[in-house]
Amino acid sequence: MGSLALSRAEVLDQPAPSIAGEVARIAREQLAPLAAGIDAGTVYPAEVLRQFGEVGAWGSHVPHEGPADLRCAIQAMSAIGEVCGSTAFMAWCQNTLVWYAANSTNMTLAKRFGDAFSTGRVLGGTGLSNPMKSFFGIEKLKLKGRKVEGGYIVRGALPWVSNLGPGHYFGTIFEREDEPGIASGDPGTVMFLADCSDSAITLTPCKPFLAMDGTGTYGVQFRDAFVPDELILADPAGPFVKKIRAGFILLQAGMALGLIKDCINIMDEVDNPLGHINRYLPQQPVHFRDLAAELETETMMLARDPYNEEETYWRKVIALRLRAGEASVAAAHAAMLHCGARGYLKSHRAQRRLREAYFVAIVTPATKQLRKMLADS
Ligand SMILES: Cc1cc2nc3c(=O)[nH]c(=O)nc-3n(C[C@H](O)[C@H](O)[C@H](O)COP(=O)(O)OP(=O)(O)OC[C@H]3O[C@@H](n4cnc5c(N)ncnc54)[C@H](O)[C@@H]3O)c2cc1C
Repeated sequence: MGSLALSRAEVLDQPAPSIAGEVARIAREQLAPLAAGIDAGTVYPAEVLRQFGEVGAWGSHVPHEGPADLRCAIQAMSAIGEVCGSTAFMAWCQNTLVWYAANSTNMTLAKRFGDAFSTGRVLGGTGLSNPMKSFFGIEKLKLKGRKVEGGYIVRGALPWVSNLGPGHYFGTIFEREDEPGIASGDPGTVMFLADCSDSAITLTPCKPFLAMDGTGTYGVQFRDAFVPDELILADPAGPFVKKIRAGFILLQAGMALGLIKDCINIMDEVDNPLGHINRYLPQQPVHFRDLAAELETETMMLARDPYNEEETYWRKVIALRLRAGEASVAAAHAAMLHCGARGYLKSHRAQRRLREAYFVAIVTPATKQLRKMLADS
């Protein structure tokens, strides 16, 4: 585990800037024209997600014989988030899926899916909201499974899972209903890949959201679906979740950083016509530039060391994630006030940014869960 005592210049100075640069170029050229359609829910940008994969956006955080480094993945997500918050969220979904397969000790699974996920050839996401809430005592696990020859039978439903479609996969967790440990109050949990093409797994479109409608988000029902041993990520899930949880949370910083940077751009854009009056507002672009720089430095520092098992490190990850959500909402709120009526137009991205910012603050682990985690630790 590396030392956390690095200067801002050192942590921002690497690695592989070309991936983030290429991602930024694709985001500007290919994604920007689609952003309004994605926001409206009429476009799911599968092709652009695959293009990001082709330039390495989903593969840089795969650990190679030991340590993992999330910095490049987060920088790439930030570049996407500067253009479209929904796509930055889908980027996070894809990156967590890659993260799960890359950390699994099931070699059959890793061999079959590792490259397919990390190149973007196969897309997908994560259904860990409910498990993440259950592990911190907020709600019960919604999926149940029982052992059968060659795998498990899984039943239950998850209300929202994103970046899905036919042929997509996502990682999630069920509780064993046949586990002898249940009697001792310690039920076994198993993490697995769900195959959206399985006829026993149904995807139901969700009611329209405030934002994120183009993210391929569905309610997912498992009707006694057979999950073969080849799709098991970790059995038991507990130690695996402990290993991947910091990465799961840190990767979300990419969504926040990109969004905050664009909110600063929006404030700058209206400075010329409105600066004479906007200077009376309490929060100015310079505040958010400082805040974004601070969050970025802290993120990059923590992202070098996602397997760190120290309690102090984990608390720093939670605290950073909390600040990232709150800063996103604050920056988008300030951008709205700076824009005035311009930003109140449906065609202006300031109001889209505000709706996207709330998602950063409510996606698991939500602001309230993060505050509980800090209070409990
Ligand atoms: C657009 C969108 C995309 C999402 N994508 C994913 C994803 O890819 N993977 C994933 O695991 N999670 C996903 N979620 C869930 C998300 O991460 C949070 O869990 C969710 O926003 C609620 O978190 P919370 O902690 O505020 O719980 P609360 O809002 O406090 O809710 C607690 C529980 O109440 C129930 N509940 C509340 N409202 C409803 C409802 N309308 N329908 C059904 N049940 C309800 C659910 O059991 C929920 O877990 C998504 C949510 C949204 C809105």
